[in-house]
Amino acid sequence: MKQRLFYKQNVFRLCILLAVPAAVAAGAYGLRYVLLLPCPVKAHWHILCPGCGLTRAFAALLEMQIIKSVLLNPAALLLSAAGICLYIEQIGMFFGKRIKILPRGVKIYIILAAVFLLYCILRNIPAFSSISIA
Ligand SMILES: [Zn+2]
Repeated sequence: MKQRLFYKQNVFRLCILLAVPAAVAAGAYGLRYVLLLPCPVKAHWHILCPGCGLTRAFAALLEMQIIKSVLLNPAALLLSAAGICLYIEQIGMFFGKRIKILPRGVKIYIILAAVFLLYCILRNIPAFSSISIA
């Protein structure tokens, strides 16, 4: 019974590990043809919200235009890096190795969120508009 549960968990993990690259490939293909709707925050209040430029930043990242991606929205690079690290950790766990790449403490995530919040505020100020092309 316990071995059967272990087998089911490993099959589930394998399915997830195989589905993630397929989902990324489908997303990369889909971003080329999807109609991007304008941001309602930007349309009504004429300010950039934290999500402004995120879709275009992911698209630029998939085309390996890293600088353009960071200028559009640095959250895409951070989220992608975190996703890749999590994926590597999961591959290690699947093969029985405990790999820890991402920090487990809360402080680093609070600092990252504060820096991103500051960036989101600054990119709406005309004097700092050069830090964003969104
Ligand atoms: Zn927006």
